[in-house]
Amino acid sequence: MANQSVCIIGGGIAGVGTWWTLAQPDQPGNQWDVTIIHDAARFGGHALTVPVTHNGGTTLVDTGVQFYVPMFYPNIDVLTGRPGIAERVPVARYDSLKVACGFPRLNGAARNWGNFDAYRGGADFAMYTPAMYRNAQRFQDTIDGALLDGDGSKTVAEYFGGLTVPYEQQQQFLSYFIDPYLSIINGYGAALSNQVTMDDLVPLFANLPGKYPGLGSFTNPGAGYGRFLQGASSLVEALAAQAQQLKPATAWMNTTVLSVAPAGHLPGPVTVTWQSGQGPIITRQFDKVIITTDILTAAGLLKSGGGPLWDSLYSKYLDKKDWQLQPGKCYIHSDVNLLSPDLRQQQETLQFTAYYAAQAAPPYYDMFHTYTTYLQQNIHNTPESAGLYLTMYGYIPDPGKGHVVPRQDLVLFAEDWQHGMWLPTFMMQAKRALHMAQGKGAARSYPGQLDTGIYFAGNNTTADSLEHAFISGEIIANWACGARYPLTGLHPLAWAMYEIFYQEFMFPMRSVSERLAHLGHALMRHL
Ligand SMILES: Cc1cc2nc3c(=O)[nH]c(=O)nc-3n(C[C@H](O)[C@H](O)[C@H](O)COP(=O)(O)OP(=O)(O)OC[C@H]3O[C@@H](n4cnc5c(N)ncnc54)[C@H](O)[C@@H]3O)c2cc1C
Repeated sequence: MANQSVCIIGGGIAGVGTWWTLAQPDQPGNQWDVTIIHDAARFGGHALTVPVTHNGGTTLVDTGVQFYVPMFYPNIDVLTGRPGIAERVPVARYDSLKVACGFPRLNGAARNWGNFDAYRGGADFAMYTPAMYRNAQRFQDTIDGALLDGDGSKTVAEYFGGLTVPYEQQQQFLSYFIDPYLSIINGYGAALSNQVTMDDLVPLFANLPGKYPGLGSFTNPGAGYGRFLQGASSLVEALAAQAQQLKPATAWMNTTVLSVAPAGHLPGPVTVTWQSGQGPIITRQFDKVIITTDILTAAGLLKSGGGPLWDSLYSKYLDKKDWQLQPGKCYIHSDVNLLSPDLRQQQETLQFTAYYAAQAAPPYYDMFHTYTTYLQQNIHNTPESAGLYLTMYGYIPDPGKGHVVPRQDLVLFAEDWQHGMWLPTFMMQAKRALHMAQGKGAARSYPGQLDTGIYFAGNNTTADSLEHAFISGEIIANWACGARYPLTGLHPLAWAMYEIFYQEFMFPMRSVSERLAHLGHALMRHL
């Protein structure tokens, strides 16, 4: 019998991870003929690494994934140690995440702070008062206990609103410390205290006594990070190269998919239409199609495909109001004026700047017009990266509206983004409901689910990180095509992360017997 065909749309880590999972030898997924279609010249997607020439040398600047976290990214951690990948994807520890915040002056006095000693005293840093420090320690203790005290599902705003004993100068602490901190850790958008749950903060801030002060520690440089020495896209490209060696696929690069249409009568083949550059429009049919673009792009492809399923199925589960993706923009540049005027010592890894967005009333600045700058020299520690900056906005800045952007002649690269948030609970309801829009599984299905042959993966379906985008590919390769969990060997943490996102997010188990049946299947496949 001829192999069945599957088309993967999108060549970020989720799409390439799906292909890599299907390419693993001696398992049912390996029977599928894979076509992958990607709209850029290189694989990577949001794991985008840009080589930049500056100071007479080249720096590989990551515009998306700055760091990964071996402890909480166990699948990525295992992958980066595997033969064939490890040689191509060198990694290093990065254990000194120094955070600084710069605010407008008040009555002539500078108001900045940082989470490390050099930025904690003196006139420039008078904002980190003993009261602020005590508050930071109290909040740290609360997060350390959040998983145990049952308050974890509260948002940060609910937590602060419900306190019987408020923090010292609580409004000031929220405005100048908590809100900017949440925005920074989201990396590329304004995560506000009413969007973030206490549980969301545990992996980022919880202190592991004797080991780590927390990734984003409030009172010390954060530790526990890894960094891709050749940039994050080196991982996606290494996976693609290995998949191609194991089981060659047809890869369409610089090619945009225009529409995806389910069969008129189910089950039946899925029709995909695409265009490579300015070339002719091509239409082909596949047994299954896995869409790994962001969900709103996926919605656009299905809507363009037409047919009755848009109205009766997809419009319910892919509705824009449930998937609140954020616009964003980043610049790689050498314009020192993007740093706050009072914060030019350049010792921090990243700087939150509210300087240009002052307001008279709380929260005293307009969060949506702040930005965060990574100082490349403090990441790469090389002479060529001195004076090189990556500035990220959680909106598309418009100089015509007074938004501050780097000077045009100092911009080396710019990119617009559409993304979710680092926070797993963000868009949680939509993520958990999406399974009913997924095609039936190779081994299992839900009552009422349709046999469309169309599936969704990518970071929107799990959480916005390299680990969770990769996991979504592992999961969909199993659900749609029966591929086994690909990381052979004993990796309990990696497998647990995969199972949590399988059972709690992408294909929620509704009963204990469902969970046991799924686990039984998984164990059988694993042994
Ligand atoms: C600014 C920023 C900073 C980040 N920082 C970190 C970090 O420090 N650590 C971390 O772990 N994660 C970070 N992330 C998150 C991480 O980069 C993503 O979660 C992950 O890379 C997403 O992978 P993906 O494959 O799901 O999606 P993507 O990488 O977005 O891949 C989908 C691909 O599909 C392509 N595509 C879209 N439409 C079409 C079409 N019609 N036809 C063909 N192709 C199409 C897109 O161009 C894209 O390349 C960051 C993300 C951003 C945006």
